[in-house]
Amino acid sequence: MLHDFAAPPLGQHEPTLGRMQLFTAALLRHEGALVDSIAPEGCDVLAPPSVQRALRIGELSRLGFGAKLPPGAQRVGLEDDWLERFAELLGPRGRWTRRILTASAPAPSDPQRLLERELLLDNATFRLLDISPAWTRYLVLDFRASAVSEDKRDFMLRLGINLATGTLPDSVLSALSPLLDAPPQDDEPPAEDALPAPWERARLLDLVERGLRPRLATALDPFEKGLRRRLGRDQERLHRYHSDLHQEAMRRIQVLAEDDPKRTREQQRVEAIAREYGAKIDDLARQYATRVTVEWVQTVELVMPVHRVSVQIRRRKSERTLLLDYNPLARKLETPTCAATASAERPRLVCDDALHLVVPAGLAPCPQCNRSFCRACHQHCPKCNAAG
Ligand SMILES: [Zn+2]
Ligand SMILES: [Zn+2]
Repeated sequence: MLHDFAAPPLGQHEPTLGRMQLFTAALLRHEGALVDSIAPEGCDVLAPPSVQRALRIGELSRLGFGAKLPPGAQRVGLEDDWLERFAELLGPRGRWTRRILTASAPAPSDPQRLLERELLLDNATFRLLDISPAWTRYLVLDFRASAVSEDKRDFMLRLGINLATGTLPDSVLSALSPLLDAPPQDDEPPAEDALPAPWERARLLDLVERGLRPRLATALDPFEKGLRRRLGRDQERLHRYHSDLHQEAMRRIQVLAEDDPKRTREQQRVEAIAREYGAKIDDLARQYATRVTVEWVQTVELVMPVHRVSVQIRRRKSERTLLLDYNPLARKLETPTCAATASAERPRLVCDDALHLVVPAGLAPCPQCNRSFCRACHQHCPKCNAAG
């Protein structure tokens, strides 16, 4: 269980240790190593052979975690291959854990207002039908993502699914994060039939795959902006350099007579400059192409009481009931997930046929025949069959 390695209480000798150092020290001690904290932000380690092999360190080693390293220390961080080394030491432990929280908390005092804030429907109305206590399970999946290009970035991505309502309640889970990362104090589970049934693997994988896309794009955005800025600068530099060469060659051509043999040579030079420019631009595109990989790290099943809100959605003459959970510890009502893109972005539009709640792009006009259609109902335009 990963919780075994949760941070020990801060002692007098470990005043302001970073999370990486706390994690490393706790894991090393758990594996039978002796660990002594040293300043600044480091530790001396006496490691048994199993730890030496997995972490690729000697019997006696000194590790550093901060910007400033203790003398002779190896740096431990998210870069390089330290995550792989820790994964080797951890093995399959901590990949799947279950947390049960039974403490109930009050229902929201004004559910109608909460709904109005959370459910921004541009083309439909809704009505609060009921709110009642219930249980749910959230599956909280952590992923490690790497973007490799001219530069490299590693980051963690968290995706949670409420198995009762099918939403991806991002803001609820980020409010619950400190609780998920804290040492467990598990309570007795409720009766199994009070909980939503586990999902079929295929259904889960489908939602995880769709849910990761928009969240990955958001997480990658600053990295990609930085790359694009540098790519633009490099392209401009290449352009300036080659257009100077080109202009110089053209100037030389202009002063040469039509039948001067030097003129042919200059014309060949102009063509060579254009060819070289094209090749350099292609090289740049290759250099900046980004490859993103995502790897599942761990899943926490969080079982806890919620308040289940049932809402009637009405569009023209149709209606349907939507369930959303209010999480009393996060003090938030979850946002319905877009049925087409699985993003948490708002507002929502409601489709005519199935009353899906989708982001505006999910009901956008067909790029070919201009007829609007629901991307959750159809993968292709129902009128002209163009890809949506
Ligand atoms: Zn069409
Ligand atoms: Zn639809």
